[in-house]
Amino acid sequence: MQNKTLAELATGLHAKQFTSVELTQMYLDRIARFDKEINSYVTVTPEKALAQAAAADTLLRSGRGGPLTGIPIAHKDIFCTDGIRTSCGSRMLDNFIAPYDASVVTRCYQANMVVLGKTNMDEFAMGSSNETSYYGPVKNPWDLAAVPGGSSGGSAAAVAAGLAPVATGTDTGGSIRQPAALCGITGLKPTYGLVSRYGMIAFASSLDQAGPMARSARDCAMLLQVMAGFDARDSTSLERLVPDYQATLDRDIRGLKIGVPVEFFEQGLDAGVEQVIRDALKAFEARGAVLVDIRLPNSKLSVPTYYVVAPAECSSNLSRFDGVRFGYRCQEPADLLDLYRRSRGEGFGAEVKRRIMIGTYALSAGYYDAYYLKAQQLRQLISEDFVHAFKQVDVIMGPTSPTVAFNLGERTEDPVTMYLSDIYTIAVNLAGLPGMSVPAGFVAGRPVGLQLIGNYFQEARLLNVAHQYQQMTGWHQQVPPAFAR
Ligand code: GLN
Repeated sequence: MQNKTLAELATGLHAKQFTSVELTQMYLDRIARFDKEINSYVTVTPEKALAQAAAADTLLRSGRGGPLTGIPIAHKDIFCTDGIRTSCGSRMLDNFIAPYDASVVTRCYQANMVVLGKTNMDEFAMGSSNETSYYGPVKNPWDLAAVPGGSSGGSAAAVAAGLAPVATGTDTGGSIRQPAALCGITGLKPTYGLVSRYGMIAFASSLDQAGPMARSARDCAMLLQVMAGFDARDSTSLERLVPDYQATLDRDIRGLKIGVPVEFFEQGLDAGVEQVIRDALKAFEARGAVLVDIRLPNSKLSVPTYYVVAPAECSSNLSRFDGVRFGYRCQEPADLLDLYRRSRGEGFGAEVKRRIMIGTYALSAGYYDAYYLKAQQLRQLISEDFVHAFKQVDVIMGPTSPTVAFNLGERTEDPVTMYLSDIYTIAVNLAGLPGMSVPAGFVAGRPVGLQLIGNYFQEARLLNVAHQYQQMTGWHQQVPPAFAR
């Protein structure tokens, strides 16, 4: 049951083979049974879930259910949820209960989905391994010694282990795609502006974007349909018609021009991962697609550019956590300055502090031109590489991550090595483009993700191409043996 796709679950619910209460209880039981090992949830909401499931069953019985009515979902703990704690993986917000729902959450409720709880994540979404969470690391369901990736590692691990059929994630520099790759699931980061950021705790506002994490491209299409669309409460939300993402999944991909960036296959890429990606590209070729070598000459600058832009924005966004308005407040402050200092000093973890310091430095008067302005100029050049590439090709493909999941603790002492986990995903955020990761094979029992990058608003195309790949191969149907029971 826990391996069914959303389409199969919807069919079962509408055909009355099982009820939403039964389905929800099954997931709650699995969470109780397995999540002590994985730590993918920060908060589980059984009472709320069962009440919502009962309401969904009433709708389904009356024949008024929609495509996702009664289907459980887990939300990354970065989305504000009215009445349910929203921690953002931080001690700072350990006691924070938002007074309203994020737009993404509202839309899922409006689709009559059932909320199972909130998933673990790197603190304020800063990390690539889930090890910066105040609630402890998440373990990779394929190998409990390995990280699940980050920052949406809880969502990825929960879906991979069958502790949720689908989940939300957010991606500022790779945080949907990289954990999807490392946990062997499918994830999509939409074009910047497609999904509302209202109520999603801000990390780097010009990069942050929410998206679906699921078992297949079709499942991603179903959830994206609910998440996407204009929202007047987000000033960067774009007013565009949202296409029917499932309608074009079956389109033939013969003649599809796939750009293969030379830079994604240079030093740093694990040989085993490269082999898996080359095999995936061959499968597309066999299906009639055409491979074209392309260049993204500025992509090598994306990690340094991101590590100026993202910390700069985060240093500003996180200034609101001052011990007064939200969350953590230190004990018995001597005066106002002491209150700020100790609340922030005690409330934030080491990685968050590092980012705030880097960002504050880069934005300071004497260094603004040398760092922040330069980074903005590079961001433009990185974006132009893609504009140029999409004149020649329909989609771009390569690895999502240079290696498979690494071991817990392996990179925590070396931030730069950790930052390089996102070397293939970050340019996509800097350019605001949509990107996906789909399971493509294994190296030593750990999953490998194939990354698909599309032109602006080409989500339907990406989902179509990913779905076609999932028709030819069964990688997305593999489940971690320890949680197959
Ligand atoms: N790993 C990257 C970082 O640490 C990206 C995180 C994200 O996409 N939220 O900033």
